[in-house]
Amino acid sequence: MKVIFDHSESEAEHIRTFYFKPEKPVHFTAGQFAEWTLKHDNPDNRGIRRWFTISSSPTQEFVTITTKYAGDDKSSSFKKALFSVEPGQELQMSDAMGDFVLPKLVQTSLIFVAGGIGITPFHSILGWLADTNETRPIRLLYGVHNEDEIIFQPTFERAKQHATIVVKEPSSAWGGQRGQLSAELILGLEQPSEDTLVYVSGPEPMVESLQKDLRAAGLKNHQFVGDFFPNYSASY
Ligand SMILES: Cc1cc2nc3c(=O)[nH]c(=O)nc-3n(C[C@H](O)[C@H](O)[C@H](O)COP(=O)(O)OP(=O)(O)OC[C@H]3O[C@@H](n4cnc5c(N)ncnc54)[C@H](O)[C@@H]3O)c2cc1C
Repeated sequence: MKVIFDHSESEAEHIRTFYFKPEKPVHFTAGQFAEWTLKHDNPDNRGIRRWFTISSSPTQEFVTITTKYAGDDKSSSFKKALFSVEPGQELQMSDAMGDFVLPKLVQTSLIFVAGGIGITPFHSILGWLADTNETRPIRLLYGVHNEDEIIFQPTFERAKQHATIVVKEPSSAWGGQRGQLSAELILGLEQPSEDTLVYVSGPEPMVESLQKDLRAAGLKNHQFVGDFFPNYSASY
């Protein structure tokens, strides 16, 4: 489907949200992703398509994606083109897909774990919960490299969701939790019952290693729901 770029907003120094107007209503469930095609001159060998989570809620007018810029020297031609897109420019968006969505049973206890830009599906889900006045038993754990990378706090507040934020390399002014996401930290947040679902989203190596450690700590396969973002380093 054709989507028209409207505007973008800075979330943090190298992180932006891009707002698109779809040519017809987009049907998706909060937490899903799509493939985005951005035609541009001289694409590199990584091409003109990328998967991005829809970071907006289905209740909102615009469809958004939120992503990180790796700098002029490291960025793909796709990211360079995206970060210089002009209002009115067209992109193509595939149908939304993916199972990283809320379970049907509203009483299921949920632990949400985001590493860096992996916060995007939770932003969509929390925005949807806030807009529909639905509440779920959620604990949110959010790991970032430094505190300048913390984004989406207004949405956590709107959803009345306290986030436990863990900063890997904080400044001396940071008064919150320090360290890295780990199975120990996740299980220390709330000991999961047999019905608890643990949703983990972020760079592929981070999600894989947490999956392995959570399984080793006794979490059952069906209790783990992962969203794996390739092409980001393990340290989110
Ligand atoms: C289901 C799903 C959902 C996703 N959702 C999001 C999302 O919401 N937000 C988001 O930002 N990303 C998301 N991603 C990841 C996204 O598709 C891109 O892979 C990611 O943004 C990196 O973009 P890029 O490849 O253009 O690299 P860039 O961002 O331009 O570069 C990132 C880094 O990757 C290095 N790199 C990695 N692979 C290569 C390679 N093959 N060649 C050269 N350099 C390389 C670069 O040196 C650079 O440091 C998602 C992926 C999936 C599968």
